[in-house]
Amino acid sequence: MRRVSIFGATGSIGQNTIDLISRAPDDYDVVALTGAGNIAQLAADARRLGADIAITAHDHLLEELRTALSGSDVEAAAGTAALTEAASRPADWVMSAIVGAAGLAPGLTALEQGATLALANKESLVCAGHLMLETARRHEARLLPVDSEHSAVFQALAGEDINAVERVIITASGGAFRDWDIDDLAHATLDEASSHPNWDMGQRITIDSASMFNKAMELIETREYFGVFPDQIEVLVHPESLIHAMVGFKDGALMAHVGPPDMRHAIGYALHWPERRALPVERLDLAAIGQLSFRAPCNTRWPALRLAREVMQTGGLAGAVFNAAKETALDGFIAGKIGFTGMAEVVEEVLNLVDAQPGHIDATMTLDNVAATDHLARREAWSVINKRAGQ
Ligand code: NDP
Repeated sequence: MRRVSIFGATGSIGQNTIDLISRAPDDYDVVALTGAGNIAQLAADARRLGADIAITAHDHLLEELRTALSGSDVEAAAGTAALTEAASRPADWVMSAIVGAAGLAPGLTALEQGATLALANKESLVCAGHLMLETARRHEARLLPVDSEHSAVFQALAGEDINAVERVIITASGGAFRDWDIDDLAHATLDEASSHPNWDMGQRITIDSASMFNKAMELIETREYFGVFPDQIEVLVHPESLIHAMVGFKDGALMAHVGPPDMRHAIGYALHWPERRALPVERLDLAAIGQLSFRAPCNTRWPALRLAREVMQTGGLAGAVFNAAKETALDGFIAGKIGFTGMAEVVEEVLNLVDAQPGHIDATMTLDNVAATDHLARREAWSVINKRAGQ
């Protein structure tokens, strides 16, 4: 039996992971399941899977979780320290699917235990890629990509020499507004931004797909995970979301990974790696699909892509600033304080503000320095957002 923990178990990735392990319950010993606000789901899954411990990130929900688990053998805990403690419990395979920078500390702790970390939480690599990879190396832990594009690149690279890679192409559906008139974007509503044409995902990543901040994060994630140079990474708009990524080699060959838009493929690949096992995903009928289409991304429509390239150029802790500013700008949009296009403007302003403060970008990449940079960038971002909102 493999000991598994799922961080962010109540979310979209977490539930897809649970769907897979529930199909072979005898194969898995569930150590920890975590969530935040969705106590009913967390408790139900923890009971059903016989988890050792269930943790909510929110201290004030501990009593509610205890009540929901009463009569079971599942331990209840709450708060960020409890999340880290749970990550330090021995597990063979850990899913990192908390949304946002909150996923970084538990992921690092799991790597320190030598676990295989299936990484959906792209924020970890954007904020602290070097730290994640270095921690994995030091503790002989393995980091496996779960983001569909990075899983696709990883699969296309299997058995290949990274030095033979000329370019990596990650695809983007273009999100909810890919066909909108650019002038209308400023007035896009929260509801309109929260619906994805192809993927069924959590609300935050769905909005990030519409703004292309998700792809911007993935550009940085690609650079960090595979160690390729920024100018080797291309973004290609592919509205059907069937090709997830392509790797171009020196001899001109282009290896594409094609599959249905179902995260259970990438999750299952990371769960069973290095084997391939049968997965309950649709088999594509390409003749019925008929055509695939592609277009170049437009930097005017999606300024997030340009900002990500600037962040890669700057390096150091610029990724932590970028992520924190992006998360805060998204909070500001969800709260109705800024408009849709205001998100990129806020992120750009914060990058310039923090970049101008000596020492912040160049500080050594430790968890404490990442956290301090994250904190500073969020403070600056709220101040920019509130100024724009006239508060
Ligand atoms: P969801 O919003 O659906 O789920 C997020 C999870 O994190 C939930 O379990 C939520 O708990 C928990 N959570 C929220 N806030 C906190 C916090 N402050 N501390 C600890 N836990 C918290 O997100 P997704 O599943 O869509 O995405 C998860 C991660 O995977 C993100 O980093 C995303 O970018 C990445 N990803 C997602 C993909 C997808 O298809 N969804 C594809 C590729 C990557 P609760 O629900 O109980 O409040």
